[in-house]
Amino acid sequence: MSEKRVYLFHEGNAQMRSLLGGKGANLAEMTRAGLPVPPGFTITTAACNDYYARGKQLSEGLLDEIREALAELETQTGKKLGDPFNPLLVSVRSGAVYSMPGMMDTILNLGLNDETVEGLAQLTGNPRFAYDCYRRFIQMFGDVVLGIDHYRFERIIENVKESRGVKHDPELSADDWKQVIASFQKLVQEQTGAAFPQDPHEQLRRAVIAVFDSWNNQRAVIYRKLHKIPDDLGTAVNVQMMVFGNMGDDSGTGVAFTRNPSTGEKTLYGEFLINAQGEDVVAGIRTPQPIAQLAEQMPEIYKQFQEISQRLEHHYRDMQDIEFTVERGKLFILQTRAGKRTAHAAVKIAVDMVQEGIIDKQTALLRVDPDQLNQILHRRVDPDAQLEVVAKGLPASPGAASGQVVFDADTAEKWANEGHRVILVRPETTPEDIHGIIAAEGVLTSRGGMTSHAAVVARGMGKPCICGCEELKIDLQQKELHIGDTVIRQGDRLSIDGGTGKVLLGEVPLIDPELSGEFQTLLTWADEVRKLKVRANADNPHDAAKAREFGAEGIGLCRTEHMFMEADRVPIVQEMILAETLEERQAALDKLLPMQREDFVGIFRAMDGLPVTIRLLDPPLHEFLPDVEELLVEITRLRMTPDADKRELLKKENLLRKVRALHEFNPMLGHRGCRLGIIHPEIYAMQVRAIFEAVSLVKKEGVDVQPEIMIPLVGHVNELHEMRKLVEEVAEQVQQETGVSISYTIGTMIEVPRAALTADQIAEEADFFSFGTNDLTQTTFGYSRDDAEGKFLHQYVDQKILPDNPFITLDTEGVGKLVSMGVQLGRQTKPDLKTGICGEHGGEKRSIQFCHDTGLNYVSCSPFRVPLARLAAAQAALSAERS
Ligand code: PEP
Ligand code: MG
Repeated sequence: MSEKRVYLFHEGNAQMRSLLGGKGANLAEMTRAGLPVPPGFTITTAACNDYYARGKQLSEGLLDEIREALAELETQTGKKLGDPFNPLLVSVRSGAVYSMPGMMDTILNLGLNDETVEGLAQLTGNPRFAYDCYRRFIQMFGDVVLGIDHYRFERIIENVKESRGVKHDPELSADDWKQVIASFQKLVQEQTGAAFPQDPHEQLRRAVIAVFDSWNNQRAVIYRKLHKIPDDLGTAVNVQMMVFGNMGDDSGTGVAFTRNPSTGEKTLYGEFLINAQGEDVVAGIRTPQPIAQLAEQMPEIYKQFQEISQRLEHHYRDMQDIEFTVERGKLFILQTRAGKRTAHAAVKIAVDMVQEGIIDKQTALLRVDPDQLNQILHRRVDPDAQLEVVAKGLPASPGAASGQVVFDADTAEKWANEGHRVILVRPETTPEDIHGIIAAEGVLTSRGGMTSHAAVVARGMGKPCICGCEELKIDLQQKELHIGDTVIRQGDRLSIDGGTGKVLLGEVPLIDPELSGEFQTLLTWADEVRKLKVRANADNPHDAAKAREFGAEGIGLCRTEHMFMEADRVPIVQEMILAETLEERQAALDKLLPMQREDFVGIFRAMDGLPVTIRLLDPPLHEFLPDVEELLVEITRLRMTPDADKRELLKKENLLRKVRALHEFNPMLGHRGCRLGIIHPEIYAMQVRAIFEAVSLVKKEGVDVQPEIMIPLVGHVNELHEMRKLVEEVAEQVQQETGVSISYTIGTMIEVPRAALTADQIAEEADFFSFGTNDLTQTTFGYSRDDAEGKFLHQYVDQKILPDNPFITLDTEGVGKLVSMGVQLGRQTKPDLKTGICGEHGGEKRSIQFCHDTGLNYVSCSPFRVPLARLAAAQAALSAERS
């Protein structure tokens, strides 16, 4: 017998998620638990995958299985699909394994036709309601299945409203809706060349196909890419008896979270609309009321809902996002799922749930996605800034953003690609706007609630978002935004504070984030389980202090070239580079020495008691010199100016000659790293002297300094041998001069394949290895780290030639093989060799997992990623323990 592809709700359970999708599995679980779920059945994800495998043909026998399940549903409900006197109406909804809110299609009120609508009118004694349902069905089916533009239907409704002289839908009568239906049917005939399908079984078949198809619609594909959801999972389809929230003032529909998804606070949080169907809430078309008002309007229902929501949260041991409908005073639960939440809320909920005894610490650690933590570490509005608040909306997703106003998703994407920071302003946000939301710094809408889909999406992405800001009058035609007397045009600057809902005129100053109490607690738990140490890449005292505040256990990479790039130093650095004689060069170095020493003093003080790895000069020297093109322009200008200063011209021409002499075709593979130190030992000698003089100075102040000198880009052991000698000589000199004895180590970066391949030899000369995976990725793949992303890498990832961008996520199979070989060979020579990573990968969760598995001692990343790395390291340790 072939595999079962249709499951009645009572036949499934929560464990069957991959087959039934998240929604289907939860509906099954709730049905089993005896909750008031309207009955129905789920068509499996396997059926969807089969549909695609067969070139978009339904699998054999699937329709028979659907018919059998339908017959069972008809028995359960006592109604029949297509029965003119007692019609069963169903909803047909998508339901993927990972929730993709609003990205796929839904059809409600299926089963209505010219006959059954009359039955429904009689049965309910409410013709207005019946016709309203039918027109909604034609509209949804027309849009989703028949591909007729939504606005054509809306225009018909607008025309009828206008002819009746009314503003709102509820003011239309049964006869008005009948007229709308007749016009809708005409529209369908015109647009498709066929009448609106009257056979409910045919309606169902086509709706199922449309939901399968919606797995691959544009917004679903973009959403999956963004959230790294595999494309081959497919969606399930849930067919469920309709219950109606639009049957009068004793009916309604709503969405609620068991805790606040923005702050994590433990209060029922959500919205509802009286006399409405689900899509009115979710699509953000009408701004709903807060759930607390349900307690006043339907106290019994509110109490029952509160009990059920607590039961669901305890059952799933996680915050739930629940959709419900009240039909004539009876409560139905339509869906429950783990609620999407901001990082801030994720941390608070995880920690609170441990304290409430609902989950253990380990589960809490695994509940928070390290990637999401970037959100908490986002900047916020400086509380001391003078702000011009022009409007206030719902604080849908926290964080602050400033940028230029744009009024549609396409412009948002275009401008962002051109390097502008934009704020997307829309009357309401719909799933079609997803590419604009991705491109924008933040989103602002005049309508829609906290649970409107795009608000949910913005929260998931950690983008600041304000919804339902009704003071905004948006004129999409003129591309203008009116707030009272203020007019803001496309391109004008605006700021939003998604944490308070404040809309602010112009750009506002933003400040660095701090860690909340719950976040500190979670990270302390992470520290208890992780094996990897976490250090920071920092090259000034401010960053070093920030890193320490975030829990860094040392500096893993201090790039000394950044110290050379400060405005007042560049001329001296240029003097050093352009020197014709050793004396000239030494004179420039002598000027730089005290400056470098001061830098190190500041860093050592900030890192008192912790190790600091200082890397000697690494980039090609011409990076410090003026651009050839600019020089040429300047020289031409001087030549063409009759009374130009001749000496100035000569100086510039001289400079051009030297810049040209230093030019390299492949500077990344050229005279950089330790190659500079070998050819110009006086440069490295100055740096080492500055370091050790700084060490002796701060040691005298009582600071505990642990300097580690790191030589970059070593490819042959002899390079390191030479440089080690140089460092030791200078260290010896400084110790003699100052009388302060210094303990230090000397190590190397492993960032070219030859270093990894000969790590056993290199370890003879090294006290530690730090894998520079930025360069190691560049040199292993042979992809330029400066150009590849813009030229081809993007497409490589899109076309799945590479699974990920290897400059972001470590390529474990290739580059990673060199890393583990380097570790193994190095430890063959020195079993206690300390190993770490300081490329960008040191702050990326999957790469951190690899570092843990490979047995590195530490990862080093930018200060703002230190908390993320602490959590990711803990998760790596836990997953290793559990597997
Ligand atoms: C590296 O190459 O990974 C590294 C950390 O050094 P840089 O990025 O400075 O070249
Ligand atoms: Mg490097």
